[in-house]
Amino acid sequence: MRPLFRRLLRVSNRSIFAFIFFFSLSSSCLYFVYVAPGIANTYLFMVQAQGIMLRDNVRTIGHMLRQYTNKNSTLNGTDYPDGTNSTDFTAQSTMYLPENFTISPHLPCPEKLPFMRGSTDINMSEITLEEIHQQFSDLGIGPGGHWKPTDCTPRWKVALLIPFRNRHEHLPIFFRHLIPMLQRQRLEFSFYVIEQAGTQTFNRAMLFNVGFKEAMKDRNWDCVIFHDVDHIPESDRNYYGCGEMPRHFATKLDKYMYILPYNEFFGGVSGLTVEQFRKINGFPNAFWGWGGEDDDLWNRVHYAGFNVSRPDGDLGKYKSIPHHHRGEVQFLGRYKLLRYSKERQYLDGLNNLIYAPNIIIDKLYKNITVNLVPELAPVKDY
Ligand code: BGC
Repeated sequence: MRPLFRRLLRVSNRSIFAFIFFFSLSSSCLYFVYVAPGIANTYLFMVQAQGIMLRDNVRTIGHMLRQYTNKNSTLNGTDYPDGTNSTDFTAQSTMYLPENFTISPHLPCPEKLPFMRGSTDINMSEITLEEIHQQFSDLGIGPGGHWKPTDCTPRWKVALLIPFRNRHEHLPIFFRHLIPMLQRQRLEFSFYVIEQAGTQTFNRAMLFNVGFKEAMKDRNWDCVIFHDVDHIPESDRNYYGCGEMPRHFATKLDKYMYILPYNEFFGGVSGLTVEQFRKINGFPNAFWGWGGEDDDLWNRVHYAGFNVSRPDGDLGKYKSIPHHHRGEVQFLGRYKLLRYSKERQYLDGLNNLIYAPNIIIDKLYKNITVNLVPELAPVKDY
């Protein structure tokens, strides 16, 4: 005899099992998205990128078939099918020189130089910081990773800010690639690693604000680059100077199959002049956990009347250093905050942040450790 409630509901055993199965599956998926948002997002953008690539391939095949069947048109080795960006195919091994190339200690360094050869060799194998210190000991790098060219006057004085927690194996790999690249670009630079202490969830944006304020105490930097530690540029022609508009450098990430995930994407690596960053009141401090702070920066930049510039073609390609940790939990409150980006812009940012840093100067970077809590950036109601 079936229990009464089952008879009333008229459900079979199979439906109950199916219900339990789908319920557990969807709860596990939601839990995964919450605790590993970075990985979940990567999968999502991979599927999206596959879709875009499939659509492009179908278009190209359709176009070729049309050309083949159309007697009036030809398709030879020099034609590119419609919609294909020919710059993507350009090998970048040719010399890269500005017009009227001259280099002199009294002249600004050119933005294009012969030793910037385009795609660079990437070596993701792990190495210790001591080994990196040794490798770079003869390159004239001063304490805190400060360097400037002597054969020309650097066009930009660049502070590179790197938010950090628990990624010690990434730092040496990062320096191995970034130092030679910035030297080839003839920029003056230093590295600031801003490390979050304490038990709060990671706050990438607040770390950048701290790094900015600390860097400004050191030198009259004019350009600031906000750089994730696990992003390695694939081309040394992705010039790390600033410009009239805030710049987004990391446009094509291997983890997103080298496709910009969405037009407003401003994550990974971005750069603003000191003046631009002050004008937008820096990053928001209220984004705890993964996601949204870069979208808010995009909004701030646009509300302040700027646009975003990006490198051409493949220059904005980056590889991610593989990691085994899961990263931070998703910040679920980001959608609400993003709806009020405009109202919050001048209430929360550089202007309401107080903190007490602990500073150590390493040979290759300045380490700024801060214990972050929400009370460090109080926001009045809006
Ligand atoms: C998040 C951003 C992130 C982007 C790409 C968005 O959903 O809000 O913070 O950079 O996905 O992963």
